[in-house]
Amino acid sequence: MARILIVEDEPDLILSLEEDLRRQGHQTQLAGDGEQGLRFGTDGGWDLILLDVMLPKMDGFDVASALRRVGVKTPIIMLTARTQEAEKELGLDSGADDYVTKPFSLRELRARIRAQLRRADREMQEVTRFGDCEVDFDRAELRRAGRPVDITPQELRMLGVFLRSRGRVLSRDQLIAGAWGPGTAITDRAVDSHVFNLRKKIEAVPSEPKFIVGVRGLGYRFDA
Ligand code: CA
Repeated sequence: MARILIVEDEPDLILSLEEDLRRQGHQTQLAGDGEQGLRFGTDGGWDLILLDVMLPKMDGFDVASALRRVGVKTPIIMLTARTQEAEKELGLDSGADDYVTKPFSLRELRARIRAQLRRADREMQEVTRFGDCEVDFDRAELRRAGRPVDITPQELRMLGVFLRSRGRVLSRDQLIAGAWGPGTAITDRAVDSHVFNLRKKIEAVPSEPKFIVGVRGLGYRFDA
């Protein structure tokens, strides 16, 4: 099951995409124009973004490069109606991971989606290290100085969101979208208390955090 953002403005295609992806067990969210696509994409919490090229307000190439510029690493598959090689290259240059040319079969798109999700999965399955901590997402384990540390699934998800966005300020809304799911009703205070608990597990001096740094008025940033 993956959370997939669909940025597309053709009603018929939207309907068939949503129906097919949901039947595959995925959760979908629609953005109907480029600006909304950029806003939702930046909010985070997606496993994959399907991005049309010809969109109202902002085209798909610009959306993809803007997302990459702000550090969003979510796999992007461009849906392009244009077939010239130059256009495809432009798509990949702008930061897309793959593209399919319209008209495409849902079967082909499914295969491309699976390939991208597998690749993203492999990257997250590697053991991630920072300071004296090691996180093994595959085994849901955190070790510090070689010793296992108890971590809740929620804290592990939040740590994953931070590690995927190292060096980048995340708002509380972005943390909620990434760690709980977009639009989940969680208060800012609850986010702060999860950050507080996570710091106790990974920081040498939790009151003087080196990794999860608070950024006044904006949110948090993971430095490592
Ligand atoms: Ca379009």
